[in-house]
Amino acid sequence: MNLIFLGAPGAGKGTQAEVVCKELNIPAISTGNMLREAVKNGTKAGLAAKEFMDRGDLVPDEVVIGILKDRIAEDDAKNGFILDGFPRTVAQAEALESMGVNIDKVIEINVPDEAITARMSGRRVCEGCGNSYHIEYKPTKVEGICDACGAKVVQRIDDKPETVISRLKTYHEKTAPLKDFYAARGKLVTVEGQDKIEETSKLTLAAIKG
Ligand code: AMP
Repeated sequence: MNLIFLGAPGAGKGTQAEVVCKELNIPAISTGNMLREAVKNGTKAGLAAKEFMDRGDLVPDEVVIGILKDRIAEDDAKNGFILDGFPRTVAQAEALESMGVNIDKVIEINVPDEAITARMSGRRVCEGCGNSYHIEYKPTKVEGICDACGAKVVQRIDDKPETVISRLKTYHEKTAPLKDFYAARGKLVTVEGQDKIEETSKLTLAAIKG
């Protein structure tokens, strides 16, 4: 099953992707995590992406499409995948279609902007494996340390309030049109994001299976 998780930054796509990929036994592919890794390793894609990411802008389509194409060609993605944070523009969605990738469903996790700005200040990410946490809704067992790999858990530079506002603006301008794009293809299902992660997971799994 090939799925896309769509939603504003901070709507909980990444957290839900981590839950659902275990249930369905398919990889969750986060272009944001891949780009952060590329920046950390100083690769060509990372160098091209860093300034855009720090400002909260989208990385140019050709950079992201290139890394996504290579990733979905890997063995573990043969039986399906969840795309978390891709596509983010209509051009990226069209590129996916021209690669011949069939998408079964697009799950939109809908959270109002006001709730997102309030939530983002508590969001944390693991420097090692990229797992996501929240100081209130999904704390680590040991403060500041990733449950999965033991590396340090930090706040992302692009989760600062002023950058979050700019990321939300970009979402509404460039990414939200994908709702119409996939609705026109009969693929879009909207899940209302709840405060409790488990509640959203129940709704998300029901939307996938329904
Ligand atoms: P995320 O972790 O999904 O919030 O992504 C973090 C940042 O990576 C975004 O603010 C963008 O700068 C960049 N990024 C991730 N995925 C994409 C994409 N599909 N297209 C363009 N930029 C992306």
